[in-house]
Amino acid sequence: MAFALHSYPVVYRAKFGHKEWKGEYLEKPHKTPEAEAALPKAELEALEESRNWYVDMPLVSYTTQYGLSCFEGLKALPQKDGGLALFRPDRNAARFYNSMQGLYMPPFPPEYFVDACVQTVKRNAEQGFRPWYQARWEQDSFISADSVYVRPFTYAEGGIGVALSEKPWVLVVASPVSSYFSGGTSAAVITERIRATPKGTGWIKSASNYVISALAKYEANAAGFMECIYLDATHRKYLEEGSSCNVFFYLRSGELVTPELGDTILPGITRSSIIELAQDQGVRVSERKITIDEVLSEGEECFVSGTAAGATPIESLTYQDKKVVFHEGKTGDLTAVLRDTLKGIQYGTLPDTKGWMVRVF
Ligand SMILES: *Cc1c(COP(=O)(O)O)cnc(C)c1O
Repeated sequence: MAFALHSYPVVYRAKFGHKEWKGEYLEKPHKTPEAEAALPKAELEALEESRNWYVDMPLVSYTTQYGLSCFEGLKALPQKDGGLALFRPDRNAARFYNSMQGLYMPPFPPEYFVDACVQTVKRNAEQGFRPWYQARWEQDSFISADSVYVRPFTYAEGGIGVALSEKPWVLVVASPVSSYFSGGTSAAVITERIRATPKGTGWIKSASNYVISALAKYEANAAGFMECIYLDATHRKYLEEGSSCNVFFYLRSGELVTPELGDTILPGITRSSIIELAQDQGVRVSERKITIDEVLSEGEECFVSGTAAGATPIESLTYQDKKVVFHEGKTGDLTAVLRDTLKGIQYGTLPDTKGWMVRVF
């Protein structure tokens, strides 16, 4: 299971009050990895589950009642030289700041964010909670590689009336993660659901957005598809993004297109990294509106991008009774180059010429 929750024991928690943030590191009791390996399965599962239980936080809050929360997702990747490094945490810090401001919360300073992510990964790793680099990952372009998933999020104070959070917590948890999609290519479908509307919260990594995503993804999976892609709410013809990832189309003309950002599209950090890497390859990249008709007739390659997805090829896209198969259902050449370049930088097999990686060790 790619995204099973096996929380690492050390958790960062900061609280806003008296106009400032005060942070601390909490640690759940845990056994050594050696002892854990020897435990019966049920006990091990109970132990892992208990690391996600914190009873000193309010049960009824704006977060648990109304989904008032925002979050981030980033990875620390095992390096070939034995280290661990985070991918562009400064960008997640900036987006988290914007998300909190978008929800009218007191924003969390970016320097605190980066430090909390580094320290949470480090403190867990020092106790053995970390993956190590495996040379065999190089054989499948790191599709099967492990990493540490870091999840910063806000949690509101207690309250039952519909209101905003003035004194939120910010928490950072970490857990192990392997690849999001099982590998190879995958089929996608245009969902009839609307993820985000103009003037809404689509541009914020807001918890409330993801119920619709989960519904749409469930429906897509039930219909035999791996991923669903949204059209815009107003015209119902422009592509927007996937359930929790951005989308790119490589057209027959040689243009790589990704929908332009606005208030309904999440500004992915993988998205902006891919745009840079593609430009470095000499590819013409456009951030513009693109209709489903243009994709059906001109699409040559397609992939989705995100922290979890990396750059995952999409083999086909189905829209009502129409279907376009990209690159004969195989991973496209440009898609493969971009995916491999991104993974190479992330796992340290290619030089980090852009200074994207922040070392934990
Ligand atoms: C997180 C997310 C993305 C991808 O963002 P990254 O920074 O690349 O991980 C794209 N779309 C949605 C809706 C998201 O929640």
